[in-house]
Amino acid sequence: MGRALANPLDIYLRVEKLPTLWCPGCGIGIATQALLKAIDRRIREGFLRKDQIVFVGGIGCSSRVAMYVKFDSIRTAHGRAIPLATAIKIVKPDRRVIVVGGDGDIAGIGGNHLLHAIRRNMDLMVIVINNMIYAMTGGQHSPTTPPGIYTTTTPEGSFERPLNLIKLAWSLGANYVARGSVTHPQLLEQIFYKGLERRGFILIEVISTCPEVFGRHIGLRDAVELYRRLRDKMIVKKNPSIDESEYDWEKGFVLGVFVDREEKGYIDHLRLLRRDCMR
Ligand code: SF4
Repeated sequence: MGRALANPLDIYLRVEKLPTLWCPGCGIGIATQALLKAIDRRIREGFLRKDQIVFVGGIGCSSRVAMYVKFDSIRTAHGRAIPLATAIKIVKPDRRVIVVGGDGDIAGIGGNHLLHAIRRNMDLMVIVINNMIYAMTGGQHSPTTPPGIYTTTTPEGSFERPLNLIKLAWSLGANYVARGSVTHPQLLEQIFYKGLERRGFILIEVISTCPEVFGRHIGLRDAVELYRRLRDKMIVKKNPSIDESEYDWEKGFVLGVFVDREEKGYIDHLRLLRRDCMR
């Protein structure tokens, strides 16, 4: 007899790999669920097919999403998910290629790849699960660690200015740039849902909880308490301006869609080039 479905989203999961390796109270599971719900809606509407979707992950807790979802999926070296995803998209332009990784993998080690994919307006959906620390590799300071936060490598509190992913993506011409949070899963699902129908570069930052490493360093080891504290820092805006995307741990984080435009993506340009060459 087949296994009874415990959840309608099981059809999108490699259930044989469950339970996940994520720590209890980690926000990555909430982000994954919101993403799968958005994908499910798009599939049921006939906008996407399951076999069109490809997941790519690098290294880190967040990159493990690619391992648990039941789509064509691949994982690669630390920071190298975007070039691999770019290659897949160019060879198979009909695929919806989704990269999932953390702030360390995508904005830190893979930062150079990130900025060139954005400036090309490469047709990728890149989801950065931002828990503001290198979680899996020992809790080092990451490019998105807010000022004043304690990490393994900033025992006196970080004094560096964090990398604002929203401003970076906006300044380099991404078509769709949004920030959600695991503390607001319905808004997050809506952000994913909209992003799935956009072309060009789509950057979605997801503010997430890491009680095991981030929380432990700042004295918020209790997952529920960390979640509540993070939720209190979120400010939802309908049409936030780019300047409102600046964040720090004290002032909080504005959530919403910061950029939504319809510039030609890289694949559009490639198609035009191929058409001209065939004349
Ligand atoms: S270390 Fe942090 S980010 Fe990684 S699984 Fe545990 S709670 Fe989640």
